[in-house]
Amino acid sequence: MNRLYVRLYGNLNQLVEQKYQTSFVYTFLLDTTLKDVIESIGIPHTEIGLILLDNKSVGWKTKVRDKARVSFFPLFYSFDVSKISKVYVKLPKLKFICDVHLGKLAKYLRIMGFDCLYENNYKDEEIIKIGTSERRIILTMDRGILKNSKVKYGALIRSKNLRDQLRELDERFNIGKNKKLLSRCILCNKKLKPTTRKKATKKFAYLNDKFYSGFFYCSHCDKIYYKGSHYKKMLDYLENLF
Ligand SMILES: [Zn+2]
Repeated sequence: MNRLYVRLYGNLNQLVEQKYQTSFVYTFLLDTTLKDVIESIGIPHTEIGLILLDNKSVGWKTKVRDKARVSFFPLFYSFDVSKISKVYVKLPKLKFICDVHLGKLAKYLRIMGFDCLYENNYKDEEIIKIGTSERRIILTMDRGILKNSKVKYGALIRSKNLRDQLRELDERFNIGKNKKLLSRCILCNKKLKPTTRKKATKKFAYLNDKFYSGFFYCSHCDKIYYKGSHYKKMLDYLENLF
């Protein structure tokens, strides 16, 4: 058996069993790549931002040698490793596709104005196909989806709690800064268009009240959006979150 000395940095340690935390010895036969190594202990390749093999930056297809030392670092866009990393994936335009368990997160991403696809009956293969062809960041708690080598953009959601999920995404993609409330329909994910008080009032008479302002509508489902108390509440919620 060959031996590889592996070290994990930062939040990668939260994704593995205790015996793999910080550093461990990985035994292998021939023809093992770094992707095989990291995924066999449960971490999808999408979570890695830099790999050093005997202190040299290397890519995913690099085969490992006996007695080599390898370090895996998490992916962070707030810290630029693009010039040295061979596995770094440039941040694409912020548009997402959520897996079937992340309906609530998808809703909040739309509230924040992000293009986010979600269906409660998506199959894993469908998510991978759409994510790849439309260059969408796949958001999922399912590590199997992200281990698929076709997946280029993805983020493993660690928490089950919505607030923490939003914070995870903010840490990784800076969504708090890039948000644009009242720009996308929560129901259909389509972009909203501005409309007048007069037109909005035709649908809901109470919107005539001067208390309401800023009217938008979705040309797909006809839903009216406006700046009322729920808008201010949501703004406060998001301001306190990030
Ligand atoms: Zn709509």
